[in-house]
Amino acid sequence: MNTSFSLKNKVAVVTGGGSGIGLATVERFIAAGATVVMADLNDSNELANKVGATFIHVDVSKEQSVKDLLAQTQKTQGNIDILVNNAGICPPFKELKDTNIEDYEFAFKVNTLGVAFGLKYAPIYMNNGGSIINTASLSGKLGVFGLGAYSTSKFSVLSLTQTAAVELGERHIRVNAICPSSVDTPMAAENDQSQLEMEKIMIPLGRICQPEEAAALIHFLAADDCNFVNGQAINLCGGMTAGIGPKMWEKLAGSAGDK
Ligand code: NAD
Repeated sequence: MNTSFSLKNKVAVVTGGGSGIGLATVERFIAAGATVVMADLNDSNELANKVGATFIHVDVSKEQSVKDLLAQTQKTQGNIDILVNNAGICPPFKELKDTNIEDYEFAFKVNTLGVAFGLKYAPIYMNNGGSIINTASLSGKLGVFGLGAYSTSKFSVLSLTQTAAVELGERHIRVNAICPSSVDTPMAAENDQSQLEMEKIMIPLGRICQPEEAAALIHFLAADDCNFVNGQAINLCGGMTAGIGPKMWEKLAGSAGDK
């Protein structure tokens, strides 16, 4: 039994591996001994060479592109043990009344179909006993003001995670999702900064998540040590969903006093 979270002799593919959570995951997997394919829409060849990964171009919103990525990985690196369906985008903030079909389609194609294609093809190229981790979001469990299209696409990732866990259990392939609140990456930097300030008040730990912390949770789910975790969507939110802390209480009491 593996008791050290080692990923030695494992072949891993990380989509969206060229930035943020994906890049932190690639680096962590390499440190744990895995052979890693960094897959991304952006050309990240140089970055991959620098960190010791192999770059393969992918557009996760295109079925054939995802299939080619997984087939090419198997051909060049051997059977896949770990897939991290992590690539994602966040459409601009809009209330539902202003959200149009293009916003829904953009979010759905990358965030939801990107995961669905990974779940469809990875098992063909995977060893039994592998692990698939989908990067969902806390917005995949809670409605968030102005994030309707994004949130819808991430709720669907949880449904795909549970369905795949049920279907792939016979092969001992586990499928789990992580649900982070805001993570300090280029994606979060594009958000309205007042939202991040608000989150720091809502989170008992008083700060947002670092990409390395998301990578550590992905690593936990990827390794064999705790092989009985399956079909779960794990929050990574510094306790935000646990309740109302003193800073939040103060803010709410203050705004109630304003009325
Ligand atoms: P990021 O922007 O730093 O990285 C996303 C990566 O995905 C980029 O390298 C980008 O090129 C790649 N990508 C985008 N579209 C792609 C496509 N069609 N095909 C292949 N690659 C594509 O963002 P991040 O914060 O690291 O996001 C990673 C995941 O985490 C996403 O699924 C995101 O929705 C999720 N997430 C992020 C946050 C956050 O606050 N940053 C919170 C919760 C969940």
